[in-house]
Amino acid sequence: MHELPITEGILATTLEAAKQARASRITGINLALGVFSGYVSDSIQFYFDLISQGTPAEGAVLQIRRIPVTCSCSDCKQNFIWKEEILPTACPHCGGICFQATGGQEFYVESIEVEEI
Ligand SMILES: [Zn+2]
Repeated sequence: MHELPITEGILATTLEAAKQARASRITGINLALGVFSGYVSDSIQFYFDLISQGTPAEGAVLQIRRIPVTCSCSDCKQNFIWKEEILPTACPHCGGICFQATGGQEFYVESIEVEEI
């Protein structure tokens, strides 16, 4: 259920951007979503289809890009990229269990695709 408020935010952002671009219709929206944001892509599209009805964004297709996190291991000092929603239990380089993840909570509209009048 928690995707509804952020989906309303996406719709408001894209409608505003389309207005400024004098676009008649929004055909696609590119979103960036951190792997740890906890949001489900399918739910976002589901809510978007519901709340965009009757707006210029009706029928727009959401493309969601998952942003991986970078982890740095404090044992071997190496970095590794992690794309799963759950953190690894050990460093893939040395098997150490002390590492830090940076990012992963991102959520923003990267770009929108529009049709002009
Ligand atoms: Zn390591």
